[in-house]
Amino acid sequence: MRQAGIEEKPRVHLCHASSSRSPVWSCRPEASVPTSEDSGFACNRERSKDGLAARQKFWFPIYGNNIPGPDPVLPEELTTPFLSLEGQQFPVTGPVPGSDEAGNSFVFIPSLKAVVTGDIVFDHVYFGVQRDKAREDWTKTIDQILALKPEIIVPGHEGPGAKHDISAIDFMKKYIVDWDVNVGKSKNAAEMRENVLKQYPGLGIQFTLNDRINTYFPAQNQPK
Ligand SMILES: [Zn+2]
Repeated sequence: MRQAGIEEKPRVHLCHASSSRSPVWSCRPEASVPTSEDSGFACNRERSKDGLAARQKFWFPIYGNNIPGPDPVLPEELTTPFLSLEGQQFPVTGPVPGSDEAGNSFVFIPSLKAVVTGDIVFDHVYFGVQRDKAREDWTKTIDQILALKPEIIVPGHEGPGAKHDISAIDFMKKYIVDWDVNVGKSKNAAEMRENVLKQYPGLGIQFTLNDRINTYFPAQNQPK
């Protein structure tokens, strides 16, 4: 998003490994490098500073010297439950449960019927499938998004083929059902990986897949 009168600058937002947990940060006009492990309204500033070196290293191959430094520019806490841009207000909902970690949020843009999500919606990527209560809580957040009847959905992570609409939710639902089936029929992590890749070849952020699988198949079950 671009705000009138503010010079376009490179924006790099480094919360966990990406900006996806808090779309709020992605909308801020200033060049900033928040590096928090917490996102949403409250940012843990001390942990942010500690995490900077690791995050700079992670993103340097992509953004090079566009990453400001040496000190991080920390995000300001949002003092209103909405963002303001060009005379419009965009309600922010959060912190809400998502996948991956706590502290997610989503932004609604009424004039576009658009929702910009954090690590709540994933499309055409290998995402972390939650279990039990975590899955229920996450599903409730998705229901909150659907209740807004969005025509545009911007996922926290997306891969090739993502369409920025409600089909992202359909993708997720099917992926979760298929994931459970694959867990049931796989004897170990290697088999699970093979099954997932066979059914879903070429999705985005494949580098996260092993970690996703390992939460279901603890190390002792993996082939040496
Ligand atoms: Zn993420």
